[in-house]
Amino acid sequence: MKYDVIIVGAGPAGSSAAYYLAAAGRKVLVLEKETFPRYKACAGGISIKALPLLDFDWQGVVEAKPRTLVFFYRSNQSFKVEWKEPMVYMVMRDRFDSLLADRAKKAGAEIKFGNPVEGVFIDPGSISVKTKTGFSYRASYVLGADGANSRVARSLNLLKNRRFGTAVAVEIQHDGGSGNHQEIRVDCGLVPKGICWQFPKTGQTSTGACTFRQGVNIYDGIDRFLTREGMEKKIILRKGHRLPADGGERKRLTAYRAMLLGDAGGLVDPLTGEGIYYALKSGFLAARAIIEKNTPDQVTALYQESIFRELFPELHAASRLTALYYRLTGVCFKLVQINPRLARALCDAMCGNHTYQKLIDTELKILKLVKEFSGNYISFKRQL
Ligand SMILES: Cc1cc2nc3c(=O)[nH]c(=O)nc-3n(C[C@H](O)[C@H](O)[C@H](O)COP(=O)(O)OP(=O)(O)OC[C@H]3O[C@@H](n4cnc5c(N)ncnc54)[C@H](O)[C@@H]3O)c2cc1C
Repeated sequence: MKYDVIIVGAGPAGSSAAYYLAAAGRKVLVLEKETFPRYKACAGGISIKALPLLDFDWQGVVEAKPRTLVFFYRSNQSFKVEWKEPMVYMVMRDRFDSLLADRAKKAGAEIKFGNPVEGVFIDPGSISVKTKTGFSYRASYVLGADGANSRVARSLNLLKNRRFGTAVAVEIQHDGGSGNHQEIRVDCGLVPKGICWQFPKTGQTSTGACTFRQGVNIYDGIDRFLTREGMEKKIILRKGHRLPADGGERKRLTAYRAMLLGDAGGLVDPLTGEGIYYALKSGFLAARAIIEKNTPDQVTALYQESIFRELFPELHAASRLTALYYRLTGVCFKLVQINPRLARALCDAMCGNHTYQKLIDTELKILKLVKEFSGNYISFKRQL
């Protein structure tokens, strides 16, 4: 049987594409290697910029809506930013991803769980995928929404020159009484070229750390962070995962009749590690390209162009800030700490209340220097 679209992976990218395509009457098959609900290593923070893409009732899976963001530098110095309205919604990914998959299913998508895809093959006039369970399926298009280790990207040779950081998610049991369960905490100096975080949930706290430097023992930083927070003895689960680190770079996300979405395409904010919004949005953009255009060339061209136009400018601006931040972490922290207006503007940009581009262009003159410096730094690195 031939499908209109086969989607590999039922995370936010795959399920969102599946929903839009099925709702538009396309015959959609989603192949997911795990059985849902499944744990996904993720802090589960969904910024308000994702809200237009979640235009259905998903509040039942929201665990907390913190309004305070506290930043530390190597456990000591700190500053706080508070909002009147929630800027980030907290979810556990097992429940959130199941809800998105259910929505796609209700719209008419067929989802086969426990079906890891082994490879993608280009056939005359179509494209097919083979699963490790020995089945083969054909379609007009394949969407690779299979995460940072994308098998689809590798099959199509689209993973060359990609860069990755390392992240660890640590789930902590909280006792309901003590501790901070209504604020987000971020430590900027405990892990080299990375951060540690603490996100409040119901009954537990999602903590973790990431680093974009090779060879760093990330567990040292996270252990110090947990000790400071008095959480080292309450660990429920620890799980590492790759984090795409090339979000600000233009790269090809399409080949023949295939497109890469979300983490599979490296679409992650390099400053915050936020990827759920980019996964949902790329799912929407891929579905829109398939629905609006007729030929594979037109579809893939529209998708690639939409990514460059609608997602790339923000990812690129974030990567400029990131280049500076990781070079001069202590100085940047101090600069933001002594300047509440800048602190708020930065947090607003990170949460999507306005753009990084606006932050760089208008907030303070020093950030224009940041733009120049980090732009030069990126082009210098590219020349190496
Ligand atoms: C520790 C950590 C913390 C994070 N915290 C945040 C956060 O707070 N907020 C945020 O926005 N982002 C966060 N991210 C990033 C976020 O998790 C990802 O960007 C997001 O999950 C990307 O969604 P996706 O649908 O592209 O991929 P995924 O969510 O990775 O989904 C891919 C799906 O594909 C399936 N799959 C994989 N291979 C195959 C195969 N061969 N065949 C079939 N199925 C397959 C997987 O089982 C999975 O279900 C974090 C990441 C990490 C590692």
